[in-house]
Amino acid sequence: MTKTFSIAVFHGDGIGPEIMAPTLEILQRMSDASTAYALRFEDAPAGAAHYARTGESLPETSMETARNADAILLSAMGLPDVRYADGTEISPQIDLRKALKLFAGVRPVRVKAGQKGPLTLPPGREIDFVLIRESTEGLFHTQGRGEVSENEARETLLVTREVSEKLFAFAFALARTRKETGRGPGRVTCVDKANVFRAFAFFRKLFDAEASRHPDLAADHVYVDATALWMVQKPWDFDVLVTENMFGDILSDLGAGLMGGLGLAPSADIGLEHAVFQPCHGSAPDIAGQGLANPLAMILSGAMMLDWLGIKHDIPAMTRDGTRLREAVEDVVARGDATTRDIGGTASTDTAARAVLDTMFVA
Ligand code: ATP
Repeated sequence: MTKTFSIAVFHGDGIGPEIMAPTLEILQRMSDASTAYALRFEDAPAGAAHYARTGESLPETSMETARNADAILLSAMGLPDVRYADGTEISPQIDLRKALKLFAGVRPVRVKAGQKGPLTLPPGREIDFVLIRESTEGLFHTQGRGEVSENEARETLLVTREVSEKLFAFAFALARTRKETGRGPGRVTCVDKANVFRAFAFFRKLFDAEASRHPDLAADHVYVDATALWMVQKPWDFDVLVTENMFGDILSDLGAGLMGGLGLAPSADIGLEHAVFQPCHGSAPDIAGQGLANPLAMILSGAMMLDWLGIKHDIPAMTRDGTRLREAVEDVVARGDATTRDIGGTASTDTAARAVLDTMFVA
């Protein structure tokens, strides 16, 4: 029986609409071809351009569309010259993260053997790990509320038992799925700074408690500074990494760098009920409207959405489609004849997206 999923779509600002349109076209084609699932897209207006037009950055109706949806697809939001009266940037994606309690920021880092990138991988080596960034507390706890006086400034790092327990349970569940599907050895690495900060010793203690519930999976710890080093020196050794918000923010850009740039880096922000799928990059206003944007990070985020929905609702055909879409993107990147300027090619946004579609439906 075909199950229909409603997908809230935030087209966003800058290059957002340009990369969302071909992604929806691909997903629609996959939905049309499937007997197991169907996707129904519902537009959710929001963002900086919307704010400039209406005075609202995330209207309640769009929030409702997101809340009622089975999953949320978001391109990129925010424009440097459109700001709230207090000077802060418009970022409804952060409001969604908080409102929907999306505690796990999932950032896959993948470089296939032979794929061009900043690192020369030893023969036979591939990079295939997932960084999970806690996304609701940590050093972002006092975001926008830090205390600043003439002579000092303070921000507070918050680690709670409630969020950490959910985060670690999520990390071990992901490592198990990856092990079962042959993607990884089944190992979770806690990235912290427990040698210096008591908050991270607490974080690590909670990690160890969750690890003890999974004797079939391996667990270890690495300090954040060593993690940065090893992500460059031996990134193929990692499977699932889990860390605090600020550490994750920094390491996920390092991960995007390993893949060759932001245009190839997808992400998901996942909670117990809701999930947002969006590329790691921003709205890139410097190249908007020129057909130069790389759509592959957005398309890969769509693949993650299919994977997540398929696992959550036990529809293996949907998870398989997620894998098929990811592999089609990887093929296009490996061939290199239809890639955009940011990753060394000359193709337009549409040509790159068309190459993915052709790989799936013609090749
Ligand atoms: P934000 O703070 O909203 O994350 P940012 O200031 O970090 O944004 P981005 O908008 O991500 O910046 O852009 C950073 C650089 O990467 C820009 O030069 C931009 O053109 C480029 N870039 C980002 N995304 C893409 C993409 N999909 N395709 C091509 N270039 C991109």
